[in-house]
Amino acid sequence: MPDANVTVIEHPVIQTKLTELRDFATESRKFRALLNEIASLMVYEVTRHWPTKPKLIQTPLEKMTGHALARPITLVPILRAGLGMTDGVLRLLPDARLGHLGVRRDEETLQPIAYYQKLPPDIAETEVLLIDPMLATGGSGAAAVSFLKKAGVSSMRFVCLVAAPEGIQALHAQHPEIPIYTAAIDRQLNDKGYILPGLGDAGDRLFGT
Ligand code: URA
Repeated sequence: MPDANVTVIEHPVIQTKLTELRDFATESRKFRALLNEIASLMVYEVTRHWPTKPKLIQTPLEKMTGHALARPITLVPILRAGLGMTDGVLRLLPDARLGHLGVRRDEETLQPIAYYQKLPPDIAETEVLLIDPMLATGGSGAAAVSFLKKAGVSSMRFVCLVAAPEGIQALHAQHPEIPIYTAAIDRQLNDKGYILPGLGDAGDRLFGT
């Protein structure tokens, strides 16, 4: 049964850029640019339901009441590949704060290990976008969500580029209320935890490692 709390953003411009990004022939410089461009485009859909509050302004002609986002925003990229989407999101949300969370997979056990965290002190009062291009086993994502919940975050969305069905299932098994936004749901994981067809190791392709 489809998971109602997953939004696949099927916009043709995003899908075209994602196809270029997946291509083995796309080198790091282009990969970085595309990843940020797709992240910018996704923000529009991801933030669609954010609450606003009234804001009184003066146009050149008269006073009017417009809108302002009701709460401050925090982006939390999961290191290191999440950094590859951060500038793209910040382009549309330039006032957002930036937290960092280092969660990596143990290559043997595929279990998440948290190795770095630095978050804004008032993160609990903000709308959080948790960012990682690949939702693979879901282990790192679920661990990151648990960590942010412990920090008091009550409103967060998980934003990725490519998700494996196994990753969606694992994240929602622990955190069913967290909305997941992705540009694609791929077929499956391989036995090393890579997404098929996927795009390879996002961190390596981003950073040229
Ligand atoms: N992380 C990646 O970068 N790629 C995958 O396919 C899975 C996890």
